[in-house]
Amino acid sequence: MAGKGGTRKDDTGMLFRMLENKVELERKFGVEVVPRASSEKGPHVTTEVTEVTERNSENLGSTTTTRRSGSEAGIAKAETVKEPTTKSEKSETKAERLAALEKEMAECHECPLGATRTKLVFGVGNPEAELMFVGEAPGADEDAQGIPFVGRAGQLLTKIIEGMGLSRSEVYIANILKCRPPENRPPRPTEVACCIPYLCRQIEIIHPKVMVCLGGVAAKTLLVSDMPVGRMRGTFLEYEGIPLLVTFHPAYLLRNPADKNLVWEDMKMVLHRLGRPIPNKA
Ligand code: URA
Repeated sequence: MAGKGGTRKDDTGMLFRMLENKVELERKFGVEVVPRASSEKGPHVTTEVTEVTERNSENLGSTTTTRRSGSEAGIAKAETVKEPTTKSEKSETKAERLAALEKEMAECHECPLGATRTKLVFGVGNPEAELMFVGEAPGADEDAQGIPFVGRAGQLLTKIIEGMGLSRSEVYIANILKCRPPENRPPRPTEVACCIPYLCRQIEIIHPKVMVCLGGVAAKTLLVSDMPVGRMRGTFLEYEGIPLLVTFHPAYLLRNPADKNLVWEDMKMVLHRLGRPIPNKA
């Protein structure tokens, strides 16, 4: 389970190394390093992430949660992405830009998960998608195949997508982490800090009309919030100007099938927002 593998001292040393790598990455790609005050316009870097203790636990209880106020309330600015500036960058298609990013990540060893993964799980789907799902991290099946959401939880996600009258090839699916945490433990903050710039760049390239966060890790990371999923869902929030809905992770639904109805309610909101017909539920 989360955070049990190393000491706090190890984590601190690791965090410094990660930050060094991150600064290097940011330098390379023109991303801002110094966070701006939240009142300033423009993006800033946030790497604050809460460590969770049970993977895909939706934390439904009314535990104390701190919602950041002002422009950070529900409006995450987790990372800035360099706008395309050169002529060739501007004329590249989304598919080409995603392929270049995937290539860049291929050998990523910014965090220790690079050494334990089988395959990097970059993301899958339509680069021009109107709808993007963001999950937590690859599991064993995803690690083996290099494709997100292909295990039991993934099959349920596929059913949800198809129930919406869509197919996996029409939407885009990615995770907060691109590499599998050993034993499926929850992502560590240092791992999230290393990986999140890549997801932010994916989102910037795809620029979907609507995003769906599957579960607490995705929601809390992108929204920079500690609120439980049960309290975040049901209303559109926003990530970098993109409407974002939080819903339960399919792995949670496998354990709590009665909550599938709530997810269907969420997906109807998504379809409505996309201006798409709402299929009759089978
Ligand atoms: N759970 C996730 O969050 N992502 C996957 O890709 C698979 C399971």
